[in-house]
Amino acid sequence: MASGKVKPNLLPQDLATLNVNELTPLTPYVISRQATINIGTIGHVAHGKSTVVKAISGVQTVRFTSEFKRNITIKLGYANAKIFKCDNSECPRPGCYKSYRSNTEDHPNCERPGCGGKMNLLRHVSFVDCPGHDVLMATMLNGAAVMDAALLLIAGNESCPQPQTSEHIAAIEIMNLKNIIILQNKIDLVKEAAAQEQYGQILKFVQGTIAEGCPIIPISAQMKYNIDVICEYIVKKIPVPPRDFTSEPRMIVIRSFDVNKPGSRVDEIKGGVAGGSILKGVLKIGDEIEVRPGVISKELDGKMKCSPIFSKIVSLFAEENELQYAVPGGLIGVGTKIDPTLCRADRLVGQVLGAVGKLPEVYTTLEVNFFLLRRLLGVKSEGDKQNKVKKLSKDDTLMVNIGSTSTGCRVIAVKHDLAKLALLTPVCTQEGEKIALSRRVDKNWRLIFINSQFKDYVLSCGLTFI
Ligand code: ZN
Repeated sequence: MASGKVKPNLLPQDLATLNVNELTPLTPYVISRQATINIGTIGHVAHGKSTVVKAISGVQTVRFTSEFKRNITIKLGYANAKIFKCDNSECPRPGCYKSYRSNTEDHPNCERPGCGGKMNLLRHVSFVDCPGHDVLMATMLNGAAVMDAALLLIAGNESCPQPQTSEHIAAIEIMNLKNIIILQNKIDLVKEAAAQEQYGQILKFVQGTIAEGCPIIPISAQMKYNIDVICEYIVKKIPVPPRDFTSEPRMIVIRSFDVNKPGSRVDEIKGGVAGGSILKGVLKIGDEIEVRPGVISKELDGKMKCSPIFSKIVSLFAEENELQYAVPGGLIGVGTKIDPTLCRADRLVGQVLGAVGKLPEVYTTLEVNFFLLRRLLGVKSEGDKQNKVKKLSKDDTLMVNIGSTSTGCRVIAVKHDLAKLALLTPVCTQEGEKIALSRRVDKNWRLIFINSQFKDYVLSCGLTFI
């Protein structure tokens, strides 16, 4: 294997005996090494998102930044954690639940003095840190395509709701994300009466929203107070998501890089690495793969040309854990034989990686069936005329998010709830995929529209194979 590090006792994966029909998000051979449930962490930075994730996972969120056209920065953070329960039935809750890093062995000893129990691995989750506002809102909505639940953070030392919190709830509603756990963080900084009062405010605030009835846990991420309760709730309140392990594999690329050091000898050069989230199917070492749209170039006549990239998987990993096969859940690193210069500095971000000849088509023009949000999200003063979303009109310049792709587009026609969009860069996508449109308002990109249905794609991108 690629790295010579000594690995803890993780279950071995064997491609020879792998039967994808028998896989579930709880299969021991899978969760020993890879996260299978994605939990979004939503909240204002100051509310302690990364501290909470660190308290649960033991690791600092690794954040991947991608610079897109028009200086749009998108950051998605990932951190994986294993969640365990002590096998001693006398071990009291919530202390019998505990979380450790992703590379921890599957049956560590219970830490409760005198318990003597062994911890059983129940879940392996990936925390996806979603950016909170403006253009990042749209990213959050797209990250949600692969999100199974959300932790919504509220700072215990502020009144509720803060403007961002309304925005976050609105986003959760648009995403139709039903499994929400509210964390009332920084509880150590307030008196009990103040915490009780805020609890009441939160209850009132979520009334009538998608978050109504969801658990509210007072915590202190800093003091690691009630982290075991979060673990218990993740196990008990978040259903194991349905997953498609049997379809042809498809992964959206969230990052890509060249692992070679400058000056590497030609015979030592390794192929490019693509990191992403598998939407469906199972990727295996040795699989032949295709990446679309691939290399995008402009012809002399100005027409865009896409050349899909064909390659082979030579390694797979989830954080530090090496894999023989990877399933949906968390962030997966895929080592390939692709020319590393094509992967350097996130060049493959927004592309789709999967089985050869089985990926969706590539488009430069889309016809979408849309509805506008009534109000701009994240704008402080409610009821202000300015916050009303203006109608879409011809020649509007917007930002479109599809899958992990973020690109500019121009409205070329609008009729009732149908719009035709010309994309700045080609996108590999298919009908039914979620799309979000944002418009520039006062120097910020604001989400104005979200949809999950396309109509009548217009294919106008020449595909040539290399
Ligand atoms: Zn115990």
